[in-house]
Parts: sequence; C-alpha cells; structure tokens
Amino acid sequence: MLKLKNVKSCFTPNSIQEAIDMLKKSDGKAALVGGGLDITVFPNPIIEQFIFLNKLGLTYIREDEENIKIGATSTITDIAKAPVMQNYLKGNVKIALAEIASELLRNQITIGGSIARHHFYSDIIPALYALRATIMVSDGELIEGFFVDDFYRNDLKTLMETCIVVGVHLNKYDDSFQFGLKRFVRNATDIALLNMAILAQIEEGVIKDVSISVGSRPGPAYRFEQGEAFLRGEKLTEVLAKDFESFTKSNVDVAKDMRLSKEYRQHLAGIYAKEILLDFIGGVR
Ligand SMILES: Cc1cc2nc3c(=O)[nH]c(=O)nc-3n(C[C@H](O)[C@H](O)[C@H](O)COP(=O)(O)OP(=O)(O)OC[C@H]3O[C@@H](n4cnc5c(N)ncnc54)[C@H](O)[C@@H]3O)c2cc1C
Repeated sequence: MLKLKNVKSCFTPNSIQEAIDMLKKSDGKAALVGGGLDITVFPNPIIEQFIFLNKLGLTYIREDEENIKIGATSTITDIAKAPVMQNYLKGNVKIALAEIASELLRNQITIGGSIARHHFYSDIIPALYALRATIMVSDGELIEGFFVDDFYRNDLKTLMETCIVVGVHLNKYDDSFQFGLKRFVRNATDIALLNMAILAQIEEGVIKDVSISVGSRPGPAYRFEQGEAFLRGEKLTEVLAKDFESFTKSNVDVAKDMRLSKEYRQHLAGIYAKEILLDFIGGVR
C-alpha cells in the first residue's frame, strides 16, 4: 500500500512480553496493530514497524460469576455475536454494537484498538463509560485493571508507549438494569455527530442508580454527572423523561464544529436523553 510506504518490517509476537519488548526497542517507530483500520486509513509516516497482536491469544469473550471478559483483539462483530452478549442487559449492548458503522468496519475494528485510539467520536467509549467497564492493561509482566474513568485520566500516549490494552471487563448486571445507546449519523458509514449511552437501575419504577455518557460532542466522551444527579432517586415516568430532555438540552457539555452547531448537538442530546428513558419504560415518544 502506497500510504504505508515507510513500513519496513512486520512482527507477529507470540507473547505480550515479546510485543512490549519490541515496542520499547522501536524508539517510537513501531505501531501495534489490532484490526489495522485506523493505521491504514490514517497512516503515520514515522511508523517503520508493525507489531501484529493477533497471535497473543487476546481474541475471546468469556464470562465468570461477576464479569464478561473481552480480549483486546476481539472485533465489534465478535462481541456482538458472542453467545454471552445475546441476553446481556436484555440484548441491548449487542444491538447497539451491531448498529455501529458498517458490517465490513465492524469486522475489522477491535475493542483494544478503539480503546487505545480514543477517537472523540467513538461509539464504543461512551458505551464503556456507561457500563462502568474496567480496562485491562499489561506492561508484559503485570496486568492492571483501570476503571474506565480513571483510564482516560492517564496520559494515554505515554501509557501506550510501554503497555498494551489486553482487554476489557464488563460487570454483570441483574434484571433491574437497563442499557441504551443512541448515535446520530447521516448514513450507515458516517461517524457519529453525537452519541449517548445510559445504564440505569430501575427498582419499583424508581431510578436507583444511573450512569450516562455523551460522546462526539465534539470533544472526548464524558460522564454527564449533572444528568445522573438529576435522575437518581426519581420515579421514571414519561413526564420525567420529558423534563430530562429539557434539563439535558440546557446542561449537556457540547460545542460546535465544522459538522454541527452547538445548538443542534444540544437538541439531539435532549432528544436522545428522553428517548432512551422512554425505551426503558416502553413509553410513547
Ligand atoms: C472509516 C472509519 C470509520 C469508523 N467508524 C466508526 C464508528 O462508526 N464507530 C466507532 O466507534 N468507531 C469508528 N471508527 C474508529 C475506529 O473504531 C478506530 O479507528 C479504531 O482504532 C479501529 O480499531 P482497530 O482495531 O482497527 O485499530 P488499529 O488501526 O489496529 O489501531 C489503532 C491505534 O490503536 C493502537 N492499538 C491497537 N490495538 C491496541 C492494543 N490492544 N493496545 C494498545 N494499542 C493498540 C494502534 O497502535 C494504533 O495506534 C472508524 C474508523 C474509520 C477509519
């Protein structure tokens, strides 16, 4: 490929340690390759070596009592099709994943590549915020878990010079929890102009706990904590959903860019906030 003309060598290490050693030795001239989508669409001319991650045994979706454990080289398709995801949060995480981008892109994008690349328009990252995921990172010797909010407080560039994202752990939630994700795109292959993910625990009609994330705003995805405080402890009704639409419009932290005005993003965020809540109660839009 002409775009990758500076790449002189490709490695396929068999262990995380070997991959990290190669990364450290490369003096910033090597790139890890997950699905390779980003690396080929946005090639970095400095890169002379590729370190492929596909032989590290990181393509899996497993579960134990408390978590769903996803290996870093699992693609969006792998995750959406995994048996364990079919009923996870009533199948709504699977449905959200299956609607991201196009099938060809979903077959290529890995969860590790999405986490490490940290595109502000990512649909995966708001989902991970709302799901309160734990990002698993290894320096070759130890594997450390970071709560997603803490992970993105790191200087990611520095962390990724000596570490690999090895996977992500999702908590298992009981039936009182609901999940929804909405993204605004103009066509199937477009990147989102705004996205929002909500996880809520609803017991006897009351929102006991909630996490909300907004992304592609156009800054990085963030936790909409004011929105969470607005909803926590409230009875989930259609009236609340409509009140939450207005609250979100006024309080969500969005801005304009060349693709969308601030006002339109506020409007979309309000609509999505309301629609996701209405979906939780099967309400009328
Ligand atoms: C045309 C296009 C459309 C897109 N549409 C969407 C969309 O609709 N929704 C969405 O959420 N995202 C979308 N994306 C963004 C996409 O999710 C990211 O580009 C993601 O990084 C691609 O994953 P990958 O595995 O192919 O990454 P790669 O290209 O393999 O890697 C991306 C970066 O992450 C590093 N990396 C990869 N794996 C790891 C790892 N395990 N540990 C540490 N570093 C690692 C690489 O070195 C590189 O710097 C789109 C991207 C493109 C190019």
